[in-house]
Amino acid sequence: MRTEADFAIIGGGIVGLSVAHGLLKQGCSVICIDGSDTDFRASRGNFGLVWVQGKGIKAPFYAAWTQNAARLYPDFVCELSQETGVQINYNQAGGYEYFTDPHTLSQRMDEYKQLKEALNGDYPYEFLSSSQIRAAEPMIGGETIGASFYPNDGHLNPLQLLKALASYCQKKGLSHHLGEELETADKKEGVFRLVTKKGLTISANKVVISAGLGAQKIGPLFGFLGLVSPQRGQILVTEKISPVLNRPSVTIRQVDEGAIQIGDSQEQSGFNDKETQAQMSRIARNAIKVMPKLAQLRLVRAWGSLRVMSPDGLPIYHQSRTLPGAFLITCHSGITLAATHSTNLSLWLTGHKNAPELSEFSEDRFHA
Ligand SMILES: Cc1cc2nc3c(=O)[nH]c(=O)nc-3n(C[C@H](O)[C@H](O)[C@H](O)COP(=O)(O)OP(=O)(O)OC[C@H]3O[C@@H](n4cnc5c(N)ncnc54)[C@H](O)[C@@H]3O)c2cc1C
Repeated sequence: MRTEADFAIIGGGIVGLSVAHGLLKQGCSVICIDGSDTDFRASRGNFGLVWVQGKGIKAPFYAAWTQNAARLYPDFVCELSQETGVQINYNQAGGYEYFTDPHTLSQRMDEYKQLKEALNGDYPYEFLSSSQIRAAEPMIGGETIGASFYPNDGHLNPLQLLKALASYCQKKGLSHHLGEELETADKKEGVFRLVTKKGLTISANKVVISAGLGAQKIGPLFGFLGLVSPQRGQILVTEKISPVLNRPSVTIRQVDEGAIQIGDSQEQSGFNDKETQAQMSRIARNAIKVMPKLAQLRLVRAWGSLRVMSPDGLPIYHQSRTLPGAFLITCHSGITLAATHSTNLSLWLTGHKNAPELSEFSEDRFHA
């Protein structure tokens, strides 16, 4: 396997592999090292939504970035599936957020109205009344008083997406070193020299740090603040049933194999990804409020997983000032952003003339 390349990517989760996918398509040579199976890996424990609504309410540039990512998704997934034969089970027929509290619903209506204005009208949401949502989704009832609908929301099988990306990248020449944890880094005469814990030495002209929560430790090696922290989410899975939900919501979706997956916790639990009885009960109670028939289904599985959060929840895309050519890439919606990470973000990394302007996502915002 190659140990010299145009780009070295540190961290082969969904973010690192999406970026690798785009760089390889641009003709760059790429090495990816990915740490240990005992690392926290959000890419293997997430909910699987490609989701726009609710994102960037106070940061329209992020809402626009997310919206663009969702619009790029159909072509991205279609090409990945064709090239690899991996079924990603992507469905983009729109999605809902259900409301049971009039105050929260009216607040959401105001927020979306303001966001739509900030995006010059390009934010095609709708609100559905209680009867409209019950007609569209017969399983919905209980305390539901209405729902928001966004047409480009969707969902997929996130493990299959990860598998397809790895397979595509390896086919296109990625040197994928698994079980290699970056330990030291320096830059001499314009070339980065990276050494792993096991002694693998890699040379690269540019380095992308996409190590998820690992960026806390290795970000500072390249002059980054490394301001990422864990936020736990727990997910419940029911027994498999025949199709009953037409579209996903932000907290409830029916996966391609038939199980209903439920998850809505955002917990500060440090580096602890264990599931807890209290949260599982709360998640189930809330889901039953909008979908009472869920109470009749058996839960068969649950897990906890840690999100990778920046201080304001927005992505960080930043080139190091002390070691130019080193980039920090991190976000809390790596599934949703995968298509734009492959296309637009990879153009930014190569300095392409069509690269987007991304200064609003820089780490500089945390210096103030
Ligand atoms: C419960 C939950 C639900 C979620 N739901 C959604 C959703 O519905 N939609 C959505 O878009 N996003 C969702 N997310 C977020 C999404 O999963 C993450 O944004 C994404 O997985 C982050 O990917 P990553 O590659 O940055 O990090 P990770 O998947 O954590 O990968 C980082 C990789 O870096 C490696 N690494 C770390 N340190 C080093 C080192 N020193 N050297 C080499 N390698 C290293 C690790 O081994 C790991 O493989 C969810 C997350 C959680 C936890």
